[in-house]
Amino acid sequence: MQYTWKDIEGHVAACTRCPLSRTRNHPVMGRGNGGADIMLIAEAPGGEEDRQGIPFVGPSGEILDSLLRDCGLKRAEIYITNIVKCRPPGNRDPGEEEKEACFPYLKYETYLLKPAVIVCLGRVAAQRILSPDFKITRQHGSWTYRKNYALTATYHPSAILRDSSKYGAVKQDFCEIVKKRDELRLSGRTDCRRV
Ligand code: SF4
Repeated sequence: MQYTWKDIEGHVAACTRCPLSRTRNHPVMGRGNGGADIMLIAEAPGGEEDRQGIPFVGPSGEILDSLLRDCGLKRAEIYITNIVKCRPPGNRDPGEEEKEACFPYLKYETYLLKPAVIVCLGRVAAQRILSPDFKITRQHGSWTYRKNYALTATYHPSAILRDSSKYGAVKQDFCEIVKKRDELRLSGRTDCRRV
């Protein structure tokens, strides 16, 4: 069956596939440009996202907006989502079963979006998508190619809230992401008409 964005949103809104459905206030579906070349994937919604049902609002969202602005990107050009769509209590890491239960939604989002560049924000997303032993401190900014995607990882914006000295490194990673997107456009590996 061919799902649409609306179908996926409806399934997430009513989902009870894992125990996080019992503690969330709102499930948080990904949001952004449905034709974006850049897809950002974080681990899970935080407190403010859970209250509003929107990804990357509150202080982490403000840091993300600043990083995007510094690299000449707008939210309207990207798509942002999470590995799990419901907030783990106390902002703990999502459990293995929770990640597996929610993964089909991420697969549908990726299938519908067909991004050129996939960016994992933080250790949990990088270890689920890139490699189970991915070390965000040592390997952020490195690139992997899989199917039609260029994949990378950088720190989650919340890491900058805890340690502002990371801002420069994350900004550099974001600017490389924009360069990679532009290289792929020039090489014809992505359809620039969609942005
Ligand atoms: S985290 Fe995902 S699988 Fe679990 S209840 Fe929420 S939407 Fe469903």
